[in-house]
Formats: sequence, C-alpha cells, structure tokens
Amino acid sequence: MEKNYTSTRDDKIKISAKDAIKKGFADDGGLFVYPQLNQLKVDLKSLVTMGYQSIAQVILEKLLPDFTKVEIHSSILNAYGNNFDNKNITPVVDVDDFHVLELFHGPTSAFKDIGLQMLPQLMQRVLDDDTKVMILTATSGDTGKAALVGFKNVEQTGITVFYPYQGVSPIQQLQMETTDGNNTDITAIKGNFDDAQTNVKQIFNDQAFKKSLGDKISLSSANSINIGRLIPQVVYYFASYIQLVNKKTLKLGQKVNFTVPTGNFGDVLAGYYAKQMGLPVNKFIVASNENNVLTKFFKTGIYDRNMPFYQTIAPSMDIQISSNFERLLYYKSGEDTAYVQKLMTELEQTGRYRVCDKVLSAIKEDFFCAYSTDEEIKTSINSLFKKSNYLMDPHTAVGYKAMRDYQKIHDQTPNILLSTASPYKFVHAVSEAILKHPAEDDQEAMQQLEEISQVPIPRNLKNLFDLPILHHDIIETNNMENYIKAKVEEKFYDKNQSASN
Ligand SMILES: *Cc1c(COP(=O)(O)O)cnc(C)c1O
Repeated sequence: MEKNYTSTRDDKIKISAKDAIKKGFADDGGLFVYPQLNQLKVDLKSLVTMGYQSIAQVILEKLLPDFTKVEIHSSILNAYGNNFDNKNITPVVDVDDFHVLELFHGPTSAFKDIGLQMLPQLMQRVLDDDTKVMILTATSGDTGKAALVGFKNVEQTGITVFYPYQGVSPIQQLQMETTDGNNTDITAIKGNFDDAQTNVKQIFNDQAFKKSLGDKISLSSANSINIGRLIPQVVYYFASYIQLVNKKTLKLGQKVNFTVPTGNFGDVLAGYYAKQMGLPVNKFIVASNENNVLTKFFKTGIYDRNMPFYQTIAPSMDIQISSNFERLLYYKSGEDTAYVQKLMTELEQTGRYRVCDKVLSAIKEDFFCAYSTDEEIKTSINSLFKKSNYLMDPHTAVGYKAMRDYQKIHDQTPNILLSTASPYKFVHAVSEAILKHPAEDDQEAMQQLEEISQVPIPRNLKNLFDLPILHHDIIETNNMENYIKAKVEEKFYDKNQSASN
C-alpha cells in the first residue's frame, strides 16, 4: 500500500491514508500530513462542468490515493445526497458586494457535517472485519452533534463525545442530549474545550491504556486532527469557486480571498490545501473571537495560550490551542519536522512558543488575521441584516468583521465568506442582535426570526424540542479515561460475548 502520509513531528514515519484515518493521531503526538502538496495539482478547467460530488471524486482521489475509485465513489454517494437540503451541498449566495459560502445545509446545520458525513464512510472502508473502533471526540459544540449523527449505528464503531459543561449553546446541548442510536455516548466534562481536547490527546498517547482495550479495539478521532475529516473540507473551496465561474462572476484563474471563522484551524487549513493544489487564492482571512491567540501570533510571531479563556457568543470558536496550526507550521517551515517537534514541546511545557521571522513571513504571505468582540459580532449581524436582509450566525459574523477589516487596508479581490452555521443554531445571540424584544425561550425566538427573515428553520432544529433527553452525564476531566473504558466494555465486550455464545 502506498504510504503517502507522514507525521508533523517526525518525517521518518510513513503511513497510508487508510491507516492514518484509522489511527487519527501519530504515535509521536504529531498529526498526519501529506508532504509536497503542490505536486498534486488539480486541472481547474476540468472541474467547470462538474457538480459537488464529481469535484469531490477528483479531490479525494488525489489526497486519499490508497482508496479505490469505487470506494471513494460509494462514500461520496452515501455522504452527500438528500441528507443535505440543497442540491449544491455547499451553495454560494451573493450578498452585498461579496459572496457567502453556506456550509450549514447538512443534517446538523453546521459546517462540521461536510467532514463528518464522510468520515464514517471512509472509516467503514478501513476497518478489518474483526476489529472495532471507539471514536473519541472533544467538542466545542458542533463537532459533537455532527459526529454523533455521522457515526450513529455505524457497524463496528462506537462514539464518545466530551463537551465543556455550560460551555456550549443550549441548542447545541439539546442536539447532543437527544441523540439516539445504539453506539452513542455523550458527557459534559467539568472543564473547557481545551481541557477536553488536551485530555483526549493524552488518552491517545497513553499506550498502556490503549493496550488494555485489547488488540481488536482501537481508538480514533472525529476531530479535524483526523485527515478523514479534514480532507473532505478541501472540496468546497473548489466547488464554491467553480459555482462562481459558472455564474460568470469569476473568470477561470482569477484570484479570490476566502474568509474563515476559525477555532481549531481545520477549516482554513483545508483551504490552504486547496491553494497548494492549484486553486487561485490571494489571501485567507482568519477570523477569531475574543480568544484571539492567533491574532496576537500574527502581530508578534509568539503563540501564547497563557491568557484568560473567554466564553463568547460564538462558542464553537472558544479555543486557545488551534491544533491544526501545527500542520501549517510543518508546511511553512519547509516540512522541518524537528523544528515543529521543538515548538510543540515548548507549547506543552510553557504554553507558548516563538517562530523565526522566516516562518512568520511565510505564513503572512497566505494569511491575514483579525478578531471580533461579542459587541462587534452583534453589530455585524444587525447591520448586514438591515442593509442586505441576510441573517448571519455569530461565527459567520466574526468572519464578516475580519473581511471588512481586511478590505479597509488591502486589495479589492473578490471575497468569499464561509458561513459555518445556521443562524437558528445560535438563535439567542442572533435574536438579541436584531430584535427589539427577543423571546427568552429559544423555540419562540426561532419562530420570531423565521417571521422577520423568511428563512425557513432547518427541520432538524424545528423538531428538536419534541425529542426526549437520552443523555445526562457530567464527569470530572480526570475521569475521562475510566468513562471511555466503561463505554468500550458496554458497547463492545458484551456483544463479543453474546456473539460467541
Ligand atoms: C468548528 C466551528 C468553527 C471553527 O472551525 P475550525 O475548523 O475549528 O477552525 C467555526 N464556526 C462554527 C460554527 C464551528 O462549528
């Protein structure tokens, strides 16, 4: 099997795409990456007549070379069909003087669906008949539900989701707590998202724990550290560009900017993959909320997570350690894995690192970074709705502000703003921004918004309030390993026994 992937921290590691998806993380604590991405050029012209699914076929064949064409084709058919409420899967709409790439038309109304409808398809085609995998997921709200929906009742898999107690929106929490399926578990942890993510990473690196599960049971990840989640996201950068070419808004080959509301840096990194593969991109505008570790990095070259953690009205971006930034450091250091290893060790030990000037300026060639406070988020939602009658969710609004900041001081390249969630998912913040008398109750607030915006409430959110709550757990962060062990036993061991009886 071709071994195209390596680790960000040790380029002696060589691994196939299939094994990388199965494992999630490299054993050295690094992330799997595809070296020399610019050798994978896509013929842009050949995409012009294609729809989303065909573009996905072209991109995934290049980035997942050890999957057969048939495996990729059947995965795409299962992942991107009627489960999305728009035939373009990720439609682009014109708003004011820019374009919005709507990524929220999937089953949970957040962009995470694009990766997480595909990952279980790929995972199923990777597992041997007698093996099982427990998917561990740390979530700031949206990944959790999207991963649960993607993996529920998928044979040979179980999924355990950890979310920060009182750190997600009430609707996000309700979405997770009402999940059915025979292989799903969800628990709040008494900590924030970074605690959840750091502990999950430690569990992946705990070789003794992994051994204790037995050699037929492995752990994997549904976070964007898993290439099987990240790589499907490359597709919509190409697909949105092609939509605009077909509308004659862009000339083939003309450059665009993409603005990306950013937390773990997975979404925008997928854009960088697309650029390396030949998509004509001028800049990526990286947008953070008040947890603005990245904005400070762009000013100083110092990544420092030793700052207060803020709970904002864009909670899916309440993150201080952007995991996928490690992958960017790999590419921008000239694929110098010893250098990345050194920086990541510093980050683990001191909570900060400084990159050399050469790496910082290489990053700035492709990326610009800005942030929004909660007040600015509300102002953005309000002013764009008044001006153009377009309703943004708070995460998209973070991007909107950064895009305007960029336009003020830089070029006038056409802009595509990625919209990462339906406004109904964060109905509380959105209705506070645009209504004089917002309803306290989320269900009522949704109806108010539907009336004034005429945008239909997505079905999965409309039905939510009638579903029974099936999950209630809250645990301490130091109890996560025990929790997983118990769930593995419950989900996998009993079945093994009854199968052998
Ligand atoms: C996850 C998420 C983001 C951040 O995406 P990353 O890939 O983590 O950078 C932004 N907006 C919403 C609504 C999200 O769910």
